[in-house]
Amino acid sequence: ASKAYTDLVGKDAVTPCGKTITLNMNAGLMADLPSLSSSGAEGVGLFRTELQFLIRNSVPKRGELATLYGRVMDAAQGKRVVFRTLDIGSDKVLPYMKPQDEPNPAMGWRAIRVGLDKRGVMRMQLQALIRGCAGRPLTIMFPFVAQFEEYRAARMMVDAELANEKRLGHVLPSSIEVGAMLETPSLAFAPDQFFKETDFISIGGNDLKQFFFAADRENERVRRRYDTLNVSFLSFIRQIVDRCEAHGTPVSFCGEDAGRPLEAVCFAAMGLKSLSMRPASIGPIKHILRQVNLDAIAELISSAAARGEQSVRKDVATYLA
Ligand code: PEP
Ligand code: MG
Repeated sequence: ASKAYTDLVGKDAVTPCGKTITLNMNAGLMADLPSLSSSGAEGVGLFRTELQFLIRNSVPKRGELATLYGRVMDAAQGKRVVFRTLDIGSDKVLPYMKPQDEPNPAMGWRAIRVGLDKRGVMRMQLQALIRGCAGRPLTIMFPFVAQFEEYRAARMMVDAELANEKRLGHVLPSSIEVGAMLETPSLAFAPDQFFKETDFISIGGNDLKQFFFAADRENERVRRRYDTLNVSFLSFIRQIVDRCEAHGTPVSFCGEDAGRPLEAVCFAAMGLKSLSMRPASIGPIKHILRQVNLDAIAELISSAAARGEQSVRKDVATYLA
């Protein structure tokens, strides 16, 4: 990190218009954890748990995972860590899983769909998380929830595992939060109860954008065609934030776009108060947020929408230049 950004490590991402944005980092390995203090991230907004499953020839043992999760919590030194349960299946085939021959893996049997169908692996991971976080706060996030019932079913699994651990006499986490990733447009239209029952929601923008525009995030040809700063997408983000706020449900954004300056500024202008990104982006994003009037950005976005413009990228870039 350059000198300018190291100076910002202990400072808040507070805008001149008085809004404070929480900046978290994304992680997936023990080796990422030292970045927590060097980047000035307030916590780990997304801990992807896939890698520990991908680097082995068989399902990792519960004890090993519990130890790893415990070490992650130690390294976080009291900062919040959001553990995302296994987001695997289809394209990310585990070496020990029978490959699925699916025509559209991104829309196939993945993430929570696998977790709810093959409960053994998910239960084992939940047990490892509960044990690894014994005596400390545990934050669990379920990926790729497309309908309310999936969240409810997954949350019931958490409750069942907690009850079981208690019965076995194990020390439980000191507190527990269970959230959902909003990565499919359908979830934005879930019943009010969904927003009430979730402890928090995190927008998985990489997937949400691909499904919003029906543009494969892995397909270079179509991927770049649709701008994240498209006024329709930003308005969709605003609607999600409004629904969460109406129910007092904390909402954050943890896709790669959160680490891009214009995108981060526009998301904050759409009301997002928490962003999670690569550690290296924390400094630059904090630097820019500390100089930008979000009301002015929101104004630019609504006037671009009123003029029928497709994207606000040029307007925002010009304003910030
Ligand atoms: C996302 O979809 O935005 C996300 C954070 O999850 P992943 O990139 O791991 O699919
Ligand atoms: Mg995703």
